[in-house]
Amino acid sequence: MQKILLIGPQGSGKGTQAEQLAKTYSIPHISTGDIFRQHMSEKTELGKLLESFVNEGKLVPNDVTLEIIKERLAQDDCANGFLFDGYPRNIEQAESIDVLLENLEMTFNHVISLEIPRELVIERLEGRRTCASCGKIYHIRFNPPIIDGICDDDGGKLYQREDDTIEKIASRLETYYTQTEPIIDHYREKGIVSEIDATLDISEVFAKIQEVL
Ligand code: ADP
Ligand code: ADP
Repeated sequence: MQKILLIGPQGSGKGTQAEQLAKTYSIPHISTGDIFRQHMSEKTELGKLLESFVNEGKLVPNDVTLEIIKERLAQDDCANGFLFDGYPRNIEQAESIDVLLENLEMTFNHVISLEIPRELVIERLEGRRTCASCGKIYHIRFNPPIIDGICDDDGGKLYQREDDTIEKIASRLETYYTQTEPIIDHYREKGIVSEIDATLDISEVFAKIQEVL
């Protein structure tokens, strides 16, 4: 049973790899960012609360995020494993998820750290486009759709995320390096971290992750 945590800076390719890994291992891809964007687009009560944080590229408070994760983990499809992307994002969240999993008699069995220099992620993020209906991720140069602006899989319209602007990217990366990166050491102590060179092509990164798993 695969219980995987993908970790790496914005633009390292977590969402891209997660989509393929979830399919290959038949496990759900749990992305707090995707769950939050869904609430915002449906304008739920929670969605309205999230807007000020997400649109500013700031972390949503830990208690709100933990509730979302608890609910998601309780769904049946998590019984045979899962792939976390975007949670935990600070030490407090890491400690919370460790306890939550322990209570379910589980732990992450692999923490995959996608490693890439800061200079390379900006171009990836500025060119990122996402399908509005299925969430599939493209890049205008590195992974373009067959027809400009249209998703290959379901014909959905591709959009650019509101937080993928130069200022917000800088602030999100700052949060990553100060708050999220230290989590890798937290899991290194447990001996479950594998470092992957995320500068390679999408298919090469995928092959390297598969070797580890
Ligand atoms: P990115 O990692 O590229 O910034 P995500 O799609 O993972 O984007 O998340 C989008 C936004 O959702 C984040 O900027 C933050 O506001 C919020 N968010 C996602 N995951 C978490 C989390 N684990 N804790 C707090 N806020 C989160
Ligand atoms: P993350 O979830 O870590 O923020 P994404 O998977 O959304 O990253 O990828 C960010 C952008 O970079 C997307 O436009 C994606 O198509 C592109 N991308 C992802 N992996 C690679 C790669 N190995 N080489 C080139 N571009 C990539």
